[in-house]
Amino acid sequence: MEATHDVLVVGAGCAGMRAAIEAHDAGADVALVSKIHPTRSHSGAAEGGINAALGNASEDNPEIHAYDTVKGSDYLGDQDAIEILCNEAPDDVYQLEHWGAIFSRTDDGRIAQRPFGAAGAPRTAYAADITGHVLIQVLYEQVVKRQLQVYEEFFAWKLVVNDDRCQGVICWDLLDGGLKTIGAKTVIVATGGAGRLYTGTTNAYACTGDGISMALRVGVPLKDMEMMQFHPTTLSPTGVLITEGCRGEGAYLLNSEGERFLKRYAPNAMELASRDVISRAEQTEIDEGRGVDGNVLLDLRHLGAERIHERLHGTRELSMVFAGVDPIHEPIPVRPGAHYHMGGVDTDVWGQTLLTGLYAAGECACVSVHGANRLGGNALMETITYGKRSGAHAADWALSHTTVEVPSSVETDAERELRALLDREEGERPWAIRDELAATMHENFGVFRREAEMERQGEIVAALRERYERVVVEDKGSVFNNDLTQALELGFLLELADCMVVCGLARKESRGAHARPYDYPDRDDESYMRHTMVTWEDGGPRLGWKPVTVTKWQPQERTY
Ligand SMILES: Cc1cc2nc3c(=O)[nH]c(=O)nc-3n(C[C@H](O)[C@H](O)[C@H](O)COP(=O)(O)OP(=O)(O)OC[C@H]3O[C@@H](n4cnc5c(N)ncnc54)[C@H](O)[C@@H]3O)c2cc1C
Repeated sequence: MEATHDVLVVGAGCAGMRAAIEAHDAGADVALVSKIHPTRSHSGAAEGGINAALGNASEDNPEIHAYDTVKGSDYLGDQDAIEILCNEAPDDVYQLEHWGAIFSRTDDGRIAQRPFGAAGAPRTAYAADITGHVLIQVLYEQVVKRQLQVYEEFFAWKLVVNDDRCQGVICWDLLDGGLKTIGAKTVIVATGGAGRLYTGTTNAYACTGDGISMALRVGVPLKDMEMMQFHPTTLSPTGVLITEGCRGEGAYLLNSEGERFLKRYAPNAMELASRDVISRAEQTEIDEGRGVDGNVLLDLRHLGAERIHERLHGTRELSMVFAGVDPIHEPIPVRPGAHYHMGGVDTDVWGQTLLTGLYAAGECACVSVHGANRLGGNALMETITYGKRSGAHAADWALSHTTVEVPSSVETDAERELRALLDREEGERPWAIRDELAATMHENFGVFRREAEMERQGEIVAALRERYERVVVEDKGSVFNNDLTQALELGFLLELADCMVVCGLARKESRGAHARPYDYPDRDDESYMRHTMVTWEDGGPRLGWKPVTVTKWQPQERTY
């Protein structure tokens, strides 16, 4: 064993760093593991902002925020978890401000808030269109200030389970090579999303669902895995995100006829309806021949150059670099792209999983506050509030328990498995399987879902998993062996895809991101107002269900 700590946080995005800070401040010895430098985590790419009912732009309170979130979730979110998020959000945002987050301001100096999709009030605090960048720098400063150890460029591969509890992590050291085991009394998985399951995605290359799959492999159930959110405005073909902040500032969506088509889908909220609603509207326009080269158009021109320069500077730059379009003069071509995984490791409201000592927070977790559809600005808030709560609980548990033990057999087994992979001289390279997986998931498990396509996708994933058994890692070296880590990531992705398809087939209704307009166009609360749960048994996913927690809000029809 390399070292032991009270609390080991895997992942150094907003959730991981916020958890580590809280655990440290509660008195625990804390370390972080990250496969990339912390400030390069995907959180840093967040543009639009973070939701808290500060009430700075209009009348607002946590209860309205909670109601909007419940409705946005299409009544699949757990209402106790949502209430906690919305109640704690304002103080958590002020905490970030006190640590130095430079939020954009109102004229009288308060934190400014912009309108975001499906929010009853302008509730999204922001730092121009680089909110995630600002938050991740601020959190990293706090990590450095506390001198927390960061095992940087360590690739976490396996969770160590001993004595029925999680007691550490086995990592591949990217810089020097070799497996390193780090023991811990509690482990918090905060490894982010899995958008790389899809060809067109806003997610960074690192978003390969590692922690979700690691938890699955040690018997922990995953929740709502079919719920992948498609963001309505991603640049074609790269998938680079064009922030919802554009529509918050008043941008229009147009079809090839120059029509603001949302008037036929969401006549009241128009461009500020929720993401699932807009993605479906766009896909329908494109499918029915009113798209422009497979896209629709996002028009900012009427906002004027000054406002675009001031509030949407980064967006303009992205459009010019990646699409050759200057939004001051031309509309931006956009289409739906895979953006956010609502599903993930099942946790309670303290981030605890079913395995003692194992916690999950951030996008890899499913508490669940987003249910079947996440509202823009709520994910960053979840990383902060639930990162904090997981850190507090994990520290508390660690401080009242003393031992950490990793049997040597666990390490030798891992060594053997890795050797077998590296010693293989012939076989298929991982990238071909990865590209096929991402392309077919996009095709068969995208914005709209059909029974036959999902079944077909199940067969495709099974065949890809078989091919994966014979995958070959050509680089046998020990320094920055990305060939190896990409092969391991692909193993994670394939299992998650398998789980998603099984859950998608089982949910015979349309709810939030899971849209089946051709066979089950309606939401069916009687049968399906419950979470899909999946565990890994005998080499494959096994489906179960769990009730949704309802506190105040009974399901209603969802219109915008
Ligand atoms: C382009 C984009 C824009 C967004 N904009 C917004 C927004 O404006 N508002 C909002 O609320 N939400 C937004 N979101 C969503 C939100 O940013 C994310 O859900 C959130 O930041 C995820 O944070 P996280 O800490 O859970 O994970 P991440 O920030 O993805 O961090 C994951 C960490 O885990 C580490 N890791 C992963 N696997 C391993 C492994 N095997 N070993 C070791 N370390 C590992 C990585 O190194 C990284 O440090 C956006 C998302 C995207 C993609």
